[in-house]
Amino acid sequence: MTMPALMETYARADLAFDHGEGAWLTTTDGRRFLDFGAGIAVSALGHAHPRLVEALRTQAGKLWHTSNLYRIPGQERVAETLVAHSFADSVFFCSTGLEANEAALKMARKVAHDAGHPERDRFVVAGGAFHGRSFASMAAGGNPKHMTGFGPLLDGFDRVAFGNLNEARQAVGERTCAVLVEPVQGEGGIRPAPEDYLAGLRALCDEFGLLLILDEIQTGVGRTGTLFAYEHSGITPDILTAAKGLGGGFPVGALLATEACARAFTAGSHGTTFGGNPLAMAVAEAVLAEVLAPDFLARVRRIGADLGERLDAVVRDYPTVLAGARGLGLMRGLICRVPNGDVIAACRDQGLLLVPAADNVARVLPPLIIDSAEVDAAIEKLRAACATLAT
Ligand SMILES: *Cc1c(COP(=O)(O)O)cnc(C)c1O
Repeated sequence: MTMPALMETYARADLAFDHGEGAWLTTTDGRRFLDFGAGIAVSALGHAHPRLVEALRTQAGKLWHTSNLYRIPGQERVAETLVAHSFADSVFFCSTGLEANEAALKMARKVAHDAGHPERDRFVVAGGAFHGRSFASMAAGGNPKHMTGFGPLLDGFDRVAFGNLNEARQAVGERTCAVLVEPVQGEGGIRPAPEDYLAGLRALCDEFGLLLILDEIQTGVGRTGTLFAYEHSGITPDILTAAKGLGGGFPVGALLATEACARAFTAGSHGTTFGGNPLAMAVAEAVLAEVLAPDFLARVRRIGADLGERLDAVVRDYPTVLAGARGLGLMRGLICRVPNGDVIAACRDQGLLLVPAADNVARVLPPLIIDSAEVDAAIEKLRAACATLAT
């Protein structure tokens, strides 16, 4: 048997898409699907959004890449927008989520080092987390499925139960420099942090002089109904990572930091060839302009709350298929009673795309631009799917 030319790294569904429009995707053989996975929370403005297409087209005809040896005006503009609308004083751009997390972990150690505490090299992290697939981000996430066969693993991560402040406090030691968590665990199964958890971690970090790092790669850029999910908690982090929705499908990652932290990165301490190139910045600038337009986020909150109620109703009507629903804004999860893969396959058969997560969850992550007719259509397809699985 010959090996496929493409590595079999993913358990791919046998579907190939040709084009998309808004929340809809069309396969190469002409079938239409309602995309409530948004490329894993990436296509924040849906597919072929006119403003993003125009931004990319215009930039493509001017300049693609110059490297970070030179100023990139788009980076300066996008950074200023993020600073104006968040806790951050300064921003570093990269191309993916894991790169943003690598930069965050490096920054935290460097901050400790520069403050005269080079021994502070450990991180408190949460069970069920996902932070990426590099050596550092894989060890930070701690998922055995992701780590088997890749040892020795990077040391420096002390894991506690997500949501448990007592455990977090007990894990802090002389060598701790930072706490890293997701405000809502995404791959972990759309598990929102308990009320007051982030505020509790903030207080803990303040008490022991630690940095609070929030991985908002999935929750960021409007997904939960605010630009960043920490805004629901009343506290601010020291460092935040963003990626998925930020480029609306173009690879962009960002590290946001307070002035005190950002000072740790000086010329030569960190860098990337591709990060923040003019194409990426043209698209990110357009994404942020849309997401920050008046009423956009209020609309995400409204339609997200409606979607949440509608999902709860489906759970009530199909108790043998679904055990519950949870989430925030347009980041929702269906806790399945049957295998989540069966629910996702049954939805796919009805023309609705969802995304699997741990904890036997099917993620509901529509583009942020969906309207109530599309929510209606999705709920109808989900009900039809559940009906085929109900016993
Ligand atoms: C997707 C994701 C990552 C990793 O991003 P990549 O771009 O795949 O490297 C990290 N953290 C969270 C919370 C994510 O959802």
